[in-house]
Amino acid sequence: MMGKQFTPDDASVVVVIGSGAGGGTVANELAQKGIDVVCLEAGSRLTLADVENNPPLMDARMGWHDKRIGNFLWVCKTVGGTTMRWSGVTPRLQAHEFRALTTYGQIDAGTSLIDWPLTLDELAPYYDKAELKMGVSGSHAIPPSEESNNYKVFKAGARLAGYQQVTSGRMAINPVARDGRPGCQQIGFCHAGCAIGAKWSTLYTEIPKAELTGHFELRANSMAVRIDHDKTGKVTGVIYRDQEGKLHEQKARAVCVAGNVVETARILLNSDSMLFPNGLANSSGQVGRNYMRHTFGAVLAVMPKPVNMHRSARQTGILFDEQAHNPERGFAGGYQLQAIGGDPHTMSDTLGGWGSEHTAFMDNYSNLAALFITGEDPAESRNRISLHDTELDASGLPVPVVEYRNHQNTDAMRDHAIGASRRIYESLGALHFWGGDAPVGCHNMGVARMSADPNDGVTNRWGQAHDVPNLFVSDGSIFSSSGAGNPTLTIVALAIRQADHIAERMNQKTL
Ligand SMILES: Cc1cc2nc3c(=O)[nH]c(=O)nc-3n(C[C@H](O)[C@H](O)[C@H](O)COP(=O)(O)OP(=O)(O)OC[C@H]3O[C@@H](n4cnc5c(N)ncnc54)[C@H](O)[C@@H]3O)c2cc1C
Ligand code: SF4
Repeated sequence: MMGKQFTPDDASVVVVIGSGAGGGTVANELAQKGIDVVCLEAGSRLTLADVENNPPLMDARMGWHDKRIGNFLWVCKTVGGTTMRWSGVTPRLQAHEFRALTTYGQIDAGTSLIDWPLTLDELAPYYDKAELKMGVSGSHAIPPSEESNNYKVFKAGARLAGYQQVTSGRMAINPVARDGRPGCQQIGFCHAGCAIGAKWSTLYTEIPKAELTGHFELRANSMAVRIDHDKTGKVTGVIYRDQEGKLHEQKARAVCVAGNVVETARILLNSDSMLFPNGLANSSGQVGRNYMRHTFGAVLAVMPKPVNMHRSARQTGILFDEQAHNPERGFAGGYQLQAIGGDPHTMSDTLGGWGSEHTAFMDNYSNLAALFITGEDPAESRNRISLHDTELDASGLPVPVVEYRNHQNTDAMRDHAIGASRRIYESLGALHFWGGDAPVGCHNMGVARMSADPNDGVTNRWGQAHDVPNLFVSDGSIFSSSGAGNPTLTIVALAIRQADHIAERMNQKTL
């Protein structure tokens, strides 16, 4: 489907960088309001016919493989971004998580916690809009997700272990046909893309809807390399590289950056100038810092009878009981446990790919039950994205350097979560149990965080740069703290809210 085409010198358009959860949403929301948008997307545009139930093949087709130094991130370079690969778990942040510093205190000298400059009450109407847009199961009269065997085992064990708050809902996967897309077939290859489009991805929701407005142009295979500005410091356009390696400039009235944390930090840092010697919007020195990626962990248990955990959407089922802040457990913040199924390929990665531990589980594959741990990750200035001093990648950009180390709070939280998971499965007679770290870099947050004080962060409560009035950040980079749950529903809610703000400012002629 082709949308409208804009000329490069059309300075009335909003340029959105990235077409994933944040970029795809803010672009469509603006286009629906009649605001002209050009969306630059580094990856190519697949169709559902290109999606195959083959994880390594789909990784080659849609994964981000440009060089990065340091910690691994499992993200995508394709129209739709990582919403092509994600599982679709969509919980809201809880009220205390918007008040990280107030609730937990500054954990130690290394942490840099702040409160969000907005509250759950302010975001709640946008959570409603995001849930309706994404079709979140168990919300707004949408049925809950189908209960898989893996979920039933998890729920039964959780009940025996004394937990109450367990649901199969809160998935942005259609339980039944909705919004022109079919219901889930429970085949379980969600991380390889969803070949029938039951799982929400901007590739086949936000992007085509924006194209239908006549106010939107998607430029795939267009890697933004730099954002330009005028003498007053307002941004004026984006330089990008096309598939043939040629550079172009698209003029802009405003720019929204949504490249998924590493790329968002990279483009801001790479847009340095005389006026912004440390990078665009970086007078605070906070661009790239406070990178958060959640306390992650994986849990496997061999159960006495078959579970067949692969016969389900990849993830279905969340336990919320441990999300509250309860310092008696020995750490700040809380976590969720989430039922997750695993294909042999991913399981092999989780367990290190060989050895007796690996074979002990694979021999019992049909009896396996599995959980995923996701929890609050305290902001630390040392966890950061920076640019390599000398090394450039194929697009001529400095290679990003990703530095991330778990805080001891994270390790203590994971240990607690593994203990809780063990109780859940042992209550049902598990024969063998394994729990450990899962350093996969799926949930990326921070690096351009919203802050009330411009010295503490990069953006204000709308995701608008403190230093540059017509520059916005529209992805998880603006999270002031991580909360425990998966971030994408919050990214989408914030993007819808940001689009409202941009439209209002344009109507008032202040943007
Ligand atoms: C295996 C897996 C499972 C996940 N499951 C869940 C889940 O269950 N629930 C949840 O909430 N989250 C989940 N996530 C995380 C979720 O996918 C992300 O939070 C979400 O996609 C982030 O949205 P985004 O817009 O920031 O980035 P993305 O969706 O990654 O989109 C960024 C886009 O920007 C493009 N881009 C980057 N740089 C440039 C540039 N310079 N020029 C042009 N384009 C550029 C990229 O190609 C990409 O398309 C999961 C992630 C993974 C990997
Ligand atoms: S299990 Fe459901 S959401 Fe996942 S890929 Fe299959 S149809 Fe899509």
